[in-house]
Amino acid sequence: MARFITKAEGGNMRSQHRCPCCGSRAKVVAKVSVTNRLFTQQVACLNPLCGWTGLSNTEYTRTISPPSALYGGTLDEPPLMSEEEVRQINAAEEAQQELI
Ligand SMILES: [Zn+2]
Repeated sequence: MARFITKAEGGNMRSQHRCPCCGSRAKVVAKVSVTNRLFTQQVACLNPLCGWTGLSNTEYTRTISPPSALYGGTLDEPPLMSEEEVRQINAAEEAQQELI
């Protein structure tokens, strides 16, 4: 089974935000950490004819690969994914690669 390394895994991909009203690109103008796993971001649409601003939440929900022993168990680590969940994600990634 081929496993493709995504740009995100290489740390080379920015998250993209889209305005829910007009679909244009939006940018994060402020970010607040609510917990170690949850961030609230203020997002502003880049379309000057729209002007929407709003809030977005980003949450780390699951652990695919646990941290090294140096860091494990010291913070609020999300629950570890089961092997079946990891298989489903890998299958979805492979299906996406076949479409590209
Ligand atoms: Zn907009």
